[in-house]
Amino acid sequence: MIWRDLSIAVRESGRRKTMHIVVERDGSLAVQVPQGFPVERILSILESRAYDVFGMLAKWKEAHRGATTHRYVEGELFPLAGRNYPIRFVSGQNVPVALVNNEFHLRQGDANPRESMKRFYRAIGRDRILKRMQVYAPKFNASPKKVQIRDMHTRWGSCTPEGVITYNWRCVLVPVFVMDYLIVHELTHLEHHRHSREFWNHVSVILPMFERAICWLQRNGIMTEI
Ligand SMILES: [Zn+2]
Repeated sequence: MIWRDLSIAVRESGRRKTMHIVVERDGSLAVQVPQGFPVERILSILESRAYDVFGMLAKWKEAHRGATTHRYVEGELFPLAGRNYPIRFVSGQNVPVALVNNEFHLRQGDANPRESMKRFYRAIGRDRILKRMQVYAPKFNASPKKVQIRDMHTRWGSCTPEGVITYNWRCVLVPVFVMDYLIVHELTHLEHHRHSREFWNHVSVILPMFERAICWLQRNGIMTEI
């Protein structure tokens, strides 16, 4: 069954008296329920425990961070804007990485493909984040003093009290609606430094659906290693 875009395995057991929610070894969700347990009941329990469920998923992601590191072999999938594209090793390409026909093309014999991919992501990240920022920046009274794109390991972005905004290039890996939220989040800090009620009100005026982005981030963990 599907709950909040998550597919959930339902297992009935004659021995169970109550519903039990588990995160499986592969990070997917499952519920163990008594025989004949109604679906509406499963959904309402999940809904009432949503906060805990997303906490469990985030914990799993955190614990399996190393396991999500990519291998540099043909066909391995790499994310961009919320989609995954396979890599191919090609010869005769004049740049280290190119996105061609929905594939990442790397050079055959590249001694450090991870570094090449990172550079590629950083460049494309800078480009797309700055472009997208131009859509949202005019909606704010304050403008950033400076915007920079960096390699950050634990945060998506930051904004100093002086108005210097830094974005993690990894913002380009997530779906565009999530990237939009990350961009708006830091821009909102230009006017509200803390995560106050006013801060969230302001975010919701610009992005009424921002909670969907937060849910996505909670489900998918903080960082994707490349
Ligand atoms: Zn913040």
